Amino acid sequence: MAQIIDGKKISAQVKAEVAKEVEALSQKGISVGLAVVIVGNNPASRVYVNNKKKACAVCGIQSYEYALPEDTTEQQLLELVDQLNHDPKVNGILVQLPVPPQIDDHKIIAAIAPEKDVDAFTEGNVGKIMIGEYNLLPCTPAGCLDLIDSTGVSIEGKNCVVIGRSNIVGKPMAMLLLHRNGTVTICHSRTRNLREICAQADILVAAVGKAGFVTADMVKEGAVVIDVGMNRNAEGKLCGDVDFAAVEKKAGYITPVPGGVGPMTIATLMRNTVTAAKEQNGLLLYS
Ligand code: NAP
Repeated sequence: MAQIIDGKKISAQVKAEVAKEVEALSQKGISVGLAVVIVGNNPASRVYVNNKKKACAVCGIQSYEYALPEDTTEQQLLELVDQLNHDPKVNGILVQLPVPPQIDDHKIIAAIAPEKDVDAFTEGNVGKIMIGEYNLLPCTPAGCLDLIDSTGVSIEGKNCVVIGRSNIVGKPMAMLLLHRNGTVTICHSRTRNLREICAQADILVAAVGKAGFVTADMVKEGAVVIDVGMNRNAEGKLCGDVDFAAVEKKAGYITPVPGGVGPMTIATLMRNTVTAAKEQNGLLLYS
């Protein structure tokens, strides 16, 4: 039976560390602020934004919410981003995605000042992650890495399989595992022999977006299984990509949904915000 990796507990530890750093910065006269921008009335986005604001409060980070109406134009949002880029009390800018269809999210992300890009979505920050010289972490993959590390299982030399190749999860996840000397395979919708490849994984990360996608026959005995998926099952209940009940019996370690990767994504965002504040005050290496 797998050990459950407790994302809530580990994220609370990360936030406690961040809170200490925020306090230490405040002793130096440096305050830390995160601007959270939400456009429209997407209920899931509203939940995410509220959770991010709550996490800011726990960490002592000032959060500034900008809630814009559904019919906001791309130009209006670009103007707000520009204003926040120049606002000295704002160290990090987060535009909650998705934005309504009249707005090109690529243009919005590109407009965020790289040093305030706490999601690490801009081209420059993605490039830094690629070459391994970065301060701002890709939030979800970095959270997954913390969860893997919490098991005590070393990544070095292990077969690591990532299912999914999105820019926000799959690709940066693979890159972080590679930087940690994992032997990494990325799978996607065109992958042949997916089951066999996954069944070789010592560390399996599922970021597909399909409930129950990873079944027990795809999992190696004793593997570390990280479930990034956030889906609704037939009953409308939040669930991951992994058939938890079956895989739990075979894996060595497994993350639950909810209570696994989700809280870690937010904790990493907090960590990035304090990192951004340090970088903007000349307190970091790669600035
Ligand atoms: P995405 O952009 O839709 O990417 C999904 C990936 O899964 C794609 O690369 C796709 O392959 C692959 N895929 C789809 N069907 C497949 C199949 N049958 N076999 C193999 N691969 C398949 O999604 P995402 O943004 O990466 O998110 C993935 C999941 O994680 C979603 O459920 C999302 O809600 C969740 N998520 C959670 C958090 C969190 O904090 N917990 C954060 C971000 C995302 P192709 O590239 O070939 O289409």
